Amino acid sequence: MNNPDAKSAEQQTVSKSFVDVFKQLSLSDLKLKLYSSTAEDVERALLKPTGDLDSLLALLSPAAEPYLEQMAQQSVALTRQRFGASIGMYIPLYLSNLCANECDYCGFTMSNKIKRKTLSQSEILDEIKPIKSMGYDSILLVSGEHETKVGVPYFKQMLPLIRQHFSYVAMEVQPLEEQDYRELVAEGLDAVMLYQETYNPLTYKAHHTRGKKSDFAYRLESPDRVAKAGVDKIGLGVLLGLDDWRLDALLMGHHLAYLERTYWRSRFSISLPRLRPCTGGVAPKVELTDKGLVQMICAFRLFNQQLEISLSTRETPKLRDNLFALGVTNVSAGSSTQPGGYVEPNTELDQFEISDERSPDLVANAMLARGLNPVWKDWETGW
Ligand code: SF4
Repeated sequence: MNNPDAKSAEQQTVSKSFVDVFKQLSLSDLKLKLYSSTAEDVERALLKPTGDLDSLLALLSPAAEPYLEQMAQQSVALTRQRFGASIGMYIPLYLSNLCANECDYCGFTMSNKIKRKTLSQSEILDEIKPIKSMGYDSILLVSGEHETKVGVPYFKQMLPLIRQHFSYVAMEVQPLEEQDYRELVAEGLDAVMLYQETYNPLTYKAHHTRGKKSDFAYRLESPDRVAKAGVDKIGLGVLLGLDDWRLDALLMGHHLAYLERTYWRSRFSISLPRLRPCTGGVAPKVELTDKGLVQMICAFRLFNQQLEISLSTRETPKLRDNLFALGVTNVSAGSSTQPGGYVEPNTELDQFEISDERSPDLVANAMLARGLNPVWKDWETGW
């Protein structure tokens, strides 16, 4: 017999957000478990490598460090099984560096006395020309978070223009309301990247001191709004260095697991950016070594075979070349992190310093040399 309450229970599940799930988690308990995991826990996790949060915890723990080689081998195999040898190529287009928030790790922070710039339609078209000549067909639109000057009306005006030139358009801007996302999807938006930066509310508060971004809970529930609006792909991320990276990564895993369970139609990606120097920015509080980054990428691949993992130009060429084969699925190259930077570079406007300054061609050649195929066009939207 049908349960008459089944539909309303399902609706209730969808109407609540990750904030409710997050409130049930004890960060101190999870941290304790992370640092008391044993070799047996890691070995168990390696035997059942997908989808289990306890396994993710073990694989992110210090106890997993001696198993890095085995994790890497499994990660490569799982990635090739799901994604073949393809690596999706994308490039950021910075629309504006205006920002109404104070984040002490970012060059665009409100109090920084830098030249501010928001691209006009013709400046966007000027930027698109060099981007297209590099071969790109997938673009990530980035801006500071300034609702009044770079808000939904601006995005609605610019998206159709940009969409004519790219088959996949992602955005990394301020969190919006569900209806706003719906309207942007109608204008051609495919994906939204929305990084929590850190899942530790106290650390979050210390680094986000003014502006709407200081509302931890609003940001935490934003991916729910993105998913409810029917955006094809949702990207999560933490800024590695703000807090204990193992705990932040684990909590991002909880967030991802909740979203996948609740919004099974969406695709998901993660980014693992390390804190980089910028004008007036803070130094990392907790350093994540290259080895730690490798562990994290492998742990997420073993946790989730479908997950897309992005790698930006924040990392050095040598490290990026080694990470390409490991579990990464999307890579940027030739990036500028300033509005107007593809036409007229001006380092004073940078959001953060880039480590890999190679051209997209050189990066693509490095991939080919490792038996990987750089893919410039995301065909899925055309299916
Ligand atoms: S991280 Fe984002 S919100 Fe914070 S200052 Fe930079 S651009 Fe603004």
